[in-house]
Amino acid sequence: MSEALLEKTKMGPVACPIDFFDVYGVRDDFPILRSRVRGKPLVYLDNAATTQKPLQVVEATRAYYEKQNANIHRGVHYLSELATNKYEAARETIAGFLNAESAREIVFTSGTTESINLVAYSFGRANIKAGDEVLISAMEHHSNIVPWQMLCEQTGAKLRVIPIDDNGDIIFEEFETLLSEKTKMVAIVHVSNSLGTINPIKKIVERAHAFDIPVLVDGAQAVSHLKVDVQELGCDFYAISSHKLFGPTGIGALYGRESLLDAMPPYQGGGDMIKSVSFERTTYSELPSKFEAGTPNMAGAIGMATAIDYFTGIGYDKLESHEDAVLRYAHEALADIPDLKFIGMAKAKTGVVSFVLSDIHPHDIGTILDQNGIAVRTGHHCTQPVMERFKIPATTRASFALYNTVDEVDRLAEGLHGVLNLFK
Ligand code: PMP
Repeated sequence: MSEALLEKTKMGPVACPIDFFDVYGVRDDFPILRSRVRGKPLVYLDNAATTQKPLQVVEATRAYYEKQNANIHRGVHYLSELATNKYEAARETIAGFLNAESAREIVFTSGTTESINLVAYSFGRANIKAGDEVLISAMEHHSNIVPWQMLCEQTGAKLRVIPIDDNGDIIFEEFETLLSEKTKMVAIVHVSNSLGTINPIKKIVERAHAFDIPVLVDGAQAVSHLKVDVQELGCDFYAISSHKLFGPTGIGALYGRESLLDAMPPYQGGGDMIKSVSFERTTYSELPSKFEAGTPNMAGAIGMATAIDYFTGIGYDKLESHEDAVLRYAHEALADIPDLKFIGMAKAKTGVVSFVLSDIHPHDIGTILDQNGIAVRTGHHCTQPVMERFKIPATTRASFALYNTVDEVDRLAEGLHGVLNLFK
């Protein structure tokens, strides 16, 4: 990368050669990547919305329904025990993946959104009252804004927002100023889905814990790019979605520190979350069943664990170097396009390149790219306050996963030159 481009893209030098990692071997595991779209080979750059699934995940899900399906926890028969063991083994896999102290700290949910809602409802309603404050950042996804807003409306607490600078980094001094005795929760995204910013979670947790404030981290975009260790980060809650992690949709998890989860009231009532029920009184199960009312998504949990095994089997060192190289290459290639402005040039970034191109509406850009078989996302990416902060209605976002290649970045750049030519 030339010095001028480095300056323009504000990225450092490429950390590792791109051929360090057998990306084409990985792509073979993802049948959908062999598709042709509108007559052209698919270039899938919408991974922040959802990732594609390897054959291993498809096969594990299929095997579950073909050979293992039964309702869990209450059956004495063979299939029920098998399905229960697989479901609980999946929980162990997720605990290991996040380095939770125990599997009791992992609650299956339908995804990041439900995980955050669970904490806002259960922890929030038990611990946050009028006059208290919940602190979020200006780069949150709507699912880490709205549940807290609803909590504040119901309790009379106040939502405070850590501002971000022009590069898309949180302004750390402002965060420190906002922390006070009134703050009862800090809820912050690990990796921004619209800017790609990696937030300094460990530092944030240290500052919040100095005031005894718990920290919830929205990890939806982080876990497919970064090695996450909840004990090292020190956070109290960590929310993830399987579908962003090469696993099935409709399943995800909440990590919660055991002492906090233990003290929290159940979030939903129903079967499986009880010890005993009478019309006079119900007692609740131990962790984590206390938070898993009703028949869960067994196939999803098994698929999610398979995806995690697949993904971690590749090795984070290879994966991070490859992704970093592709992201840097993308910044370099796109910086060459006239009138293209990056939105989000944070000090530490992963997975995402967001931009505006001349005065062409991102929806037009997305539609024209789609004609070339290139899938990107356009719009506000469920982060309307980010668009407001940068005074734009929308961006075009290319988001990368472990299977993307520099050739695909070239196709994107070519497609964008084509868009410019059309609008000349
Ligand atoms: N947070 C972030 C940063 C996200 O990118 C997303 C998904 N776009 C979510 C939360 C919500 O995840 P889900 O829709 O899987 O619940």
